[in-house]
Amino acid sequence: MRTTNYLLSTQKEAPSDAVIASHQLMLRAGMIRKLASGLYTWLPTGLRVLRKVENIVREEMERAGVVEILMPVVQPADLWHETGRWDKFGGELLRIKDRNNRDFVLGPTHEEVVTELVRKEVNSYKQLPLNLFQIQTKFRDETRPRFGVMRAREFTMKDAYSFHLEQECLEKTYQNMFDAYCRIFDRLGLEYRPVIADTGSIGGSASHEFHVLAQSGEDAIVFSDQSDYAANIEKAEALAPAFDRPTATAELTVVDTPNAHTIDEVCDLLNVEASKTVKTLLVEGDAEEGEMAPVIALVLRGDHNLNEVKVEHIEGIASPLRFAGAQQILDAANCEAGSIGPKGLTIRTIVDRSAEKLADFVCGANENGKHLTGVNWDRDITDYEIADLREVVEGDPSPCGQGTLSIARGIEVGHIFQLGDTYAKSMNAAVLNQQGKNQVMTMGCYGIGISRIVAAAIEQNNDQNGIIWNDTLAPFSVVIVPMNMKKSHRVSDLAEQYYAELTAAGIEVLLDDRKERPGIMFADAELIGIPHTLVIGDRSIDNGVIEYKDRASGEKQEVKIEEVIEFIK
Ligand code: ATP
Ligand code: MG
Ligand code: MG
Ligand code: MG
Repeated sequence: MRTTNYLLSTQKEAPSDAVIASHQLMLRAGMIRKLASGLYTWLPTGLRVLRKVENIVREEMERAGVVEILMPVVQPADLWHETGRWDKFGGELLRIKDRNNRDFVLGPTHEEVVTELVRKEVNSYKQLPLNLFQIQTKFRDETRPRFGVMRAREFTMKDAYSFHLEQECLEKTYQNMFDAYCRIFDRLGLEYRPVIADTGSIGGSASHEFHVLAQSGEDAIVFSDQSDYAANIEKAEALAPAFDRPTATAELTVVDTPNAHTIDEVCDLLNVEASKTVKTLLVEGDAEEGEMAPVIALVLRGDHNLNEVKVEHIEGIASPLRFAGAQQILDAANCEAGSIGPKGLTIRTIVDRSAEKLADFVCGANENGKHLTGVNWDRDITDYEIADLREVVEGDPSPCGQGTLSIARGIEVGHIFQLGDTYAKSMNAAVLNQQGKNQVMTMGCYGIGISRIVAAAIEQNNDQNGIIWNDTLAPFSVVIVPMNMKKSHRVSDLAEQYYAELTAAGIEVLLDDRKERPGIMFADAELIGIPHTLVIGDRSIDNGVIEYKDRASGEKQEVKIEEVIEFIK
């Protein structure tokens, strides 16, 4: 590829709403452009990386015996009525109508569609097990799309679905998929951990999430330093007594705060003091766009001694609910997560230790400019909560009996489930078994966030100059930077020669043939994160060498002109 034919689109600065490294760098390196909230165009550089992730995932799926299909993005509502998820799924499900007023959804996931396919195509146990995958666009109307493609509304997922006659067979496939996932994340060169996950509302018996470790991760995981034990926070709380956090008896007052804009005003309303140890539950909402936080809940906590739950008023609440504290509001208010309103509300728990810090929280307001600021709401689990968890959990013995527990932030890049027969039963997906009787199939499902992986990889691999791609993911392996190409025939001839030879050797090369100053070309090469740079200049040609620079280490070395191709290979 020649830069002059390419759409490089690098930028010096990232917009101020890009707060994490990968979001900033993907914009600055010209990988993505925002079209609207949670909707992104992939520019050529971004797309090249996305395709690499896709290809590795595809190769490993095929190696694991999973068969590729492609299902429609648009799905008829009827199927969602069959499983009951039309009502249960909540605000993330984007519903649309066709010209005949029939209901459809933009697929956030494909259990319904794939089960519809398999119940028609598969009739006998002899056709089982069957494992199908696709790599495809998903749409989820996320409450708070953020961090660029990390949490987008439209994104690319690899989703696989397996069908079995018996649980035992499902378990075998599940393990096979677990191993395939490990191979994928190993090949991608990511630092990751598989963790035991809560099966939550999907049900089923077993589930693992795969987390890329990163400070910017929205999730928290718990792991043992001496064994493979690792769990996400929800599961860890369910499993280990160490996680019985004192939310079970919370004195909770939920108030409608249309006129309370500050913590002080809220405290006035509640007739409480902003005390030293306060656990705040902030219930945020968007009943209408522009309208803020109809409800704020404060839980007062004196040294983990919480009293009874009292709810005065509560309005529309939807998932995601991550903490027992939040669940308790729902329980107390006798409403179900996701039960109200297509947009709903989100709940987050904040733990803080000092009144001063409390005054720094962002809280909702019904008027512009009245919000309290100073805390990063763009996270599901806040740093305060992590600190709180560390205090409660770190150093405790692992539930597996080996080692002690640590807490880390993670980005969920993959999720596998043993679904059981939930979907197959409600959709009556059965086959004839060996006895010639109808038997409902049992299922597994297996997701990977293809587009999220691109961002997660950048979170783990960047420096002040930009992205640092490994050879597996890099949009180009080599960039050729000719100095003064327009004036020096020797330089342009050698650049063209390398370009042709490397291309012929199957290496992806970017030839920077712009009329730009070398400084600009170097900065772009570093920002985009191309692993290998070849600098060609008259002076070094005089010495029979060219200059090579390694992006990751920053090390430079001279390579003999005739040895360059071998060196790169
Ligand atoms: P999250 O907890 O981050 O909302 P999820 O648990 O809702 O993710 P799954 O239903 O398990 O997601 O989907 C499988 C994978 O798809 C996730 O592990 C994640 O990598 C990816 N994914 C989910 N939602 C998004 C999104 N909004 N943007 C990008 N990738 C996503
Ligand atoms: Mg989600
Ligand atoms: Mg999740
Ligand atoms: Mg998940």
